[in-house]
Amino acid sequence: MNAEGSVASTIAKKQFHRRTDKDRSQSIRLGLQGAFLLLNLWIGIEFYLWVRGLETGKVIVAERPAGVEGWLPIAGLMNARYLLATGRVPAVHPAALFLFLAFVVMSLLMKRAFCSWLCPVGTFSEALWKMGRAVFSWNVKMPKWLDVALRSLKYILLAFFVVLIGGMTAEALDGFMGSSYGLMLDVRMMNFFLDMSMTAALIVVALVVGSVFIKNLWCRYLCPYGALLGLVSVVSPVKIRRDVEACVDCGKCAKSCPAALPVDKLVQVRSAECTACFECIAACSTESALSFAFAPRKAERPAKRWQGRALHPLFVAMILVYIFAASVLYARITGHWKMNVTNDVYQQMITNVNALAHPEM
Ligand code: SF4
Ligand code: SF4
Repeated sequence: MNAEGSVASTIAKKQFHRRTDKDRSQSIRLGLQGAFLLLNLWIGIEFYLWVRGLETGKVIVAERPAGVEGWLPIAGLMNARYLLATGRVPAVHPAALFLFLAFVVMSLLMKRAFCSWLCPVGTFSEALWKMGRAVFSWNVKMPKWLDVALRSLKYILLAFFVVLIGGMTAEALDGFMGSSYGLMLDVRMMNFFLDMSMTAALIVVALVVGSVFIKNLWCRYLCPYGALLGLVSVVSPVKIRRDVEACVDCGKCAKSCPAALPVDKLVQVRSAECTACFECIAACSTESALSFAFAPRKAERPAKRWQGRALHPLFVAMILVYIFAASVLYARITGHWKMNVTNDVYQQMITNVNALAHPEM
């Protein structure tokens, strides 16, 4: 048989079997994204009221919510380095460490699902480009060379932090975190957003406007945290897998992928850019063609089929919630969730931070 004949017979063999199940991945994902957005909003409001209470001397919220440390990924990285160097959980921002480790474990098991299922920044970013698509019926399609060049930015940022933090001794980490600057990282971060300089505000506005037109602008090109989780996710045993026998090569999956991955050409998506968002699976109307699945058993490998080894999106959501809850619970039970700093000490440090920021007051 000549080459054309063999291609024709391959196509002829591929029969389209429409999916019979209703895809619920996107509504389940949206539900979890919404829940984490609310959780973060709640933590943010509590933290704001706690700080304002200490500033004014009127207690509004009695205790600092430790969950705010989820917003300190660099502190999480520094504390992970400290844990590696000393074998001890650091006293300052320990919740940042446990949340960081939880997100790393999620990436090890479930690809970069943290980015597309839990991260509030990812949720906001996704809402912006979906809004852009709804309003303008269009999102920017980056040329491949520019996309690759821009994607490398987040790895360069990550390398900068890894080299910087990797080179610090345990004493240096201790010294930085134990300083009033280290202790006040969360307060400084909040003040940064509430009292932005003109330059910072322009950058934030540019990122927000850009995100309306460019899919996941921040996450895709600039977020070093996403870069780290992406690299970890490469070894995840669960991946988006395409059943080449069932697939009818319609290309809908690749078209829907926010990371612009050629899903329709791959047998499995190994890329560090895949956030396990299930958008490709939701777009595929062919029975069993695409799944988020474990590798096929050895005996099944030649046929590249993995029915029965695919994960339901609800199961993915449950695993993510379980890892998150287990990490917080473990930290609480072992007494490592909250810092041992009294409100009086905080009050003094907050007064100092404010005096430095507004010397005229
Ligand atoms: S390959 Fe699928 S799951 Fe991965 S980012 Fe693209 S659309 Fe999402
Ligand atoms: S959406 Fe992708 S996996 Fe599904 S049939 Fe089309 S090309 Fe194949």
